[in-house]
Amino acid sequence: MTSLLVFSDLDGTLLDHHTYSFVPAQTALQSLKTFSIPCVINTSKTFHELLSLRKALDHQDPFIVENGSAVYIPKHLSLFIDEELEDCGDYWVKAFGSKRSTLIELTDSQKDNYTFKRFSDISCQELMTLTGLSEENATLAMQREFTEPMVWTDSNVALNQLREYLAPFGVQIQKGGRFSHLMGKHCDKANAMLWLTDLYASQSDEEITTMALGDGENDIGMLSEADIPVVIRSPVHAPPEVPNRIDAWLTDGYGPEGWSQAIDLVLSKQGII
Ligand SMILES: [Mg+2]
Repeated sequence: MTSLLVFSDLDGTLLDHHTYSFVPAQTALQSLKTFSIPCVINTSKTFHELLSLRKALDHQDPFIVENGSAVYIPKHLSLFIDEELEDCGDYWVKAFGSKRSTLIELTDSQKDNYTFKRFSDISCQELMTLTGLSEENATLAMQREFTEPMVWTDSNVALNQLREYLAPFGVQIQKGGRFSHLMGKHCDKANAMLWLTDLYASQSDEEITTMALGDGENDIGMLSEADIPVVIRSPVHAPPEVPNRIDAWLTDGYGPEGWSQAIDLVLSKQGII
């Protein structure tokens, strides 16, 4: 017997790239609930950004925020945890990276050496202009815990110099589309997935099979470490390549439609439905 553990990206995967709707995935989500298969959200979003969405999804399972920076485990799940975790209200939290305040402090001392603007340097209005986010969403995006995005206006050479300066402190810079992100060296969607899988495995007699679903470059690590990697087709970019995984599936449908096709297929292949 094996039991299934699902890890899912949000934007462009469970949520439609354009409308953020998860309606096409609702039936498949319900099937996972029916068969008590955990569906772990693994996203670049923050804890505060996830609150209302988890409510809308009626999501009760663990979730991973800020690109693998921390795993939140709802206390009601009563998973036995054999290590000291942070106690955050309704959740136990396993953090993999530095706190955001540390990232800010570390880069404060470099403000005279390079030209950059971090979220902590700009107002909500400025963020709205930069990203097109609504005021509500910009406010949520600014409430971060483990990563600090910055607008980098210096050269690439300078960026690498700052990288070298930060490395001994266990801090890396990941370049994204609009922002460069300051984050802990070990923050990665794959790491967090593997840690949580080990936790489930430690209290199950059954072998765990992991299924990961994602559409973007930042999902590649998670996809390549999963037993069943599923690349969700995107309406706006080519599917990312998962190195050394010719067995990775590419869905026919886009976003939540593809998501739901993949879940249904795995449930039937595993003999669950
Ligand atoms: Mg995505």
